[in-house]
Amino acid sequence: MINLVTLFTAMCLSVGVLDCDDIEIKESKSLWKVSNTLARVTLYVSGKSTITFSTKASKLNEQSQKALIAHELAHLVLFSRKDYTHGHNREHYQLCRKIAFENKVSKNKSKSLCK
Ligand SMILES: [Zn+2]
Repeated sequence: MINLVTLFTAMCLSVGVLDCDDIEIKESKSLWKVSNTLARVTLYVSGKSTITFSTKASKLNEQSQKALIAHELAHLVLFSRKDYTHGHNREHYQLCRKIAFENKVSKNKSKSLCK
């Protein structure tokens, strides 16, 4: 988990537009079992946001972790915009690919996890 927190914080800062100190980082043992999800971001009406990593995510290799974080950061960036659109649209994909590229994630890994 320490590794994911460190990676997430570094990548969040590298994106530049997010208030990274304000994003709460959690770990969940049930996220994968319940919803087959490695990570999830939640945005509250107050403006606060949370990222939850499945315990399974801590067992991934660094490339996969970075690609996963790029995916979630792209959601957070889109959430933070007023014209935010939900889900896995073209804008999300392109932003995810950009963040992944800037963090030296391989093309194949980024293509598969940015979807
Ligand atoms: Zn997603």
